[in-house]
Amino acid sequence: MINALPDHGVPADRILAELSALRELDLPTHGGTLFSYVYDSGLPDLDALTRSAHALSSHVNGLDPTAFPSLLATENALVSAAARLLGGGVPTVVGNVTSGGTESLILAVKAARDSRPEVAQPRMAVPMTGHAAFAKAGHYLGVALDSVPVDPQTLAADADAMAAAVTPDTILIAASAPSYAHGVVDPVTDIAAAAAERGVRCHVDACFGGWVLPYLRRLGVPVPPFDFSVPGVTSLSVDLHKYAYCPKGVSVLLHRDDRLRLPQYFGYADWPGYTMVNSGVASTRSGGPIAAAVAAMRHIGDDGYLRLAERTREAVAVLASDVAAVEGLRLIVPAGNTVVCFTSDDPGLDLFVLADALASRGWHTQPQLPFGAMPAGVHMTVTAAVADRVDEFAPVLAEAVAATREAGPVPLPDELKALVSQSPPEHLTPELIAELADRLGLGGGEPVTGRMAVVNSLLAMAPARTRERLLVEFVSLLQRPAPA
Ligand SMILES: *Cc1c(COP(=O)(O)O)cnc(C)c1O
Repeated sequence: MINALPDHGVPADRILAELSALRELDLPTHGGTLFSYVYDSGLPDLDALTRSAHALSSHVNGLDPTAFPSLLATENALVSAAARLLGGGVPTVVGNVTSGGTESLILAVKAARDSRPEVAQPRMAVPMTGHAAFAKAGHYLGVALDSVPVDPQTLAADADAMAAAVTPDTILIAASAPSYAHGVVDPVTDIAAAAAERGVRCHVDACFGGWVLPYLRRLGVPVPPFDFSVPGVTSLSVDLHKYAYCPKGVSVLLHRDDRLRLPQYFGYADWPGYTMVNSGVASTRSGGPIAAAVAAMRHIGDDGYLRLAERTREAVAVLASDVAAVEGLRLIVPAGNTVVCFTSDDPGLDLFVLADALASRGWHTQPQLPFGAMPAGVHMTVTAAVADRVDEFAPVLAEAVAATREAGPVPLPDELKALVSQSPPEHLTPELIAELADRLGLGGGEPVTGRMAVVNSLLAMAPARTRERLLVEFVSLLQRPAPA
């Protein structure tokens, strides 16, 4: 246990040693064997540079851009780079830096909602493959979510279905470029046209792939139009802490013009303190991530991003063919950009057991639960650093597949199956869930690497509301103050 308020201060070197020891428990953020959460360029000097840049500006406060011109200049530099890459040559594009994709989406929804104050019960139409952050934005902002079915084969949004979902209360239509789960780019041209025809804003969520798709296109990969070159696209988000390989805490939200952006701001003068003017959700915010992002992007440069995209593309091709070569495994959709996502057609080859078998061999993929007609999957977000290690994957996969077949699917007691598949979520009391977590060996905050199959197999049987309930309670069990 770390005591964050010791009776007497502790020397710096000891604190850093303790923190480093703690970090040893984490999944590997570098080295290309963790296929979610982290984005590793594999560039040797980048970390030292971004660390120093972060430290230079970590105490600068974005609350007031007039007090800290360095922050204004660096934020505008990031926005201007994003506008050059994704602005489609539209000279009026403006934008802001946010803390991440979720904040960018919340603000895009807020701007759309506040541009239509006459709509008492606003709604938004989002493909069912759209990121969960849209649902969160809707929940926070009181905007109802119309989740629109996608093409069952390609998993791309269906532009006609999106158009048909628009009501007089619809304030926003969304598309992904690409979707997180499967890496599919939606037909933005048709969706944005349908939105424009109806006078509705259209947001392109390019949080995930916005910084890599333009480079893949330059390398000859077919990437459909998705940025401001598409008429009708009114806003677009891109996370710099994903494929721009910046440290965590930076995303950019762009609008086609300043008029569209204005309702994103919150201004307030009805109190005795300073007049608050915020472009984003947070008020006080650190300049650290912004300075680090400028450093990373200036160091990598346009030609550097092209090389990183090339490395990523090579790695994707190898991983996808490794997976396709395994009898019983199948890519859910062709690996078109930076995602490899596969499922199993063989009941003897359980995906959740396979993910554990890969994890215990040091390769950390992300299991995806079955959803609607979509099968369970194993998701791999591929970044440039994977290229250095990619030849090691096929033999590890073969070994993991053999071990998975040998082990078979996880046996689940009938009463547990009944509990998660049939109990109404409100019957799952905190006590019951704590007991379940204990029984599954999830208490105590120990790393769960390599032993998630039983949990995933149970969750796979549960309806969405039950999944939410179980995992919220579980996370709340973890997030407790440590005993002194
Ligand atoms: C990651 C992601 C988000 C959310 O971004 P955070 O930075 O995790 O808040 C939104 N949309 C897509 C498509 C994403 O991949």
